[in-house]
Amino acid sequence: MPPRSKADKQARLNQILAVLDDMYPNVTCALHHTNPWELLVATILSAQCTDERVNKVTPALFAKYPTIEDFAAATQEEMGKDIYSTGFYNNKAKNIIAAAQRILTVFNSEVPTNIEDLLTVPGAARKTANVVLGTCFNIASGVVVDTHVSRISQRLDLTKKTDPVNIEKDLIQILPQSRWISFSHQLIHHGRGHCTARSPKCHTCPMNHLCYAKDKNA
Ligand code: SF4
Repeated sequence: MPPRSKADKQARLNQILAVLDDMYPNVTCALHHTNPWELLVATILSAQCTDERVNKVTPALFAKYPTIEDFAAATQEEMGKDIYSTGFYNNKAKNIIAAAQRILTVFNSEVPTNIEDLLTVPGAARKTANVVLGTCFNIASGVVVDTHVSRISQRLDLTKKTDPVNIEKDLIQILPQSRWISFSHQLIHHGRGHCTARSPKCHTCPMNHLCYAKDKNA
């Protein structure tokens, strides 16, 4: 039975957060990177692509283009070949090159550390900006909402919205800011392991008693 009072909802949310901490302590971004620029590139590549696939492509990419200057000087055609297997390679190559050029010329070769500036970088929409700021700078600028965070937030009835922008607004309202970064990482892990889209493993999910999703598996 869904909780009705504000206090009951808050108590349930606290229980969900406690279970997530037990299940996924110290989780972080699964995209391999050694600096903010590499994470920005990897996050742009991860659109409509798995992190595993991106992690297979980026080692050779970062070896071929070791600096932001190298990325800025690349041609779209050449980079498209380098990132072909991540899909949407023409658009991604165009954005990555334009991002490098903007960071080089406007931000003195440094990835911006505030969301307003970061959102002016080609290819960096809210999700990408939140990933980079949260993971590299520990700045809680918002909540990363990807397909896993969307699905599980809906299943756990933390939002009734369906689009990422409004889901993020709901999550920002109910989550303490200190949880904005870790909550996304935890839900992404949960979505890969237990709460998959088609066949969630509800019988082994420690949040089963807190979840009343309509598509729960018995
Ligand atoms: S009980 Fe099932 S639907 Fe609910 S969070 Fe767990 S895996 Fe997902």
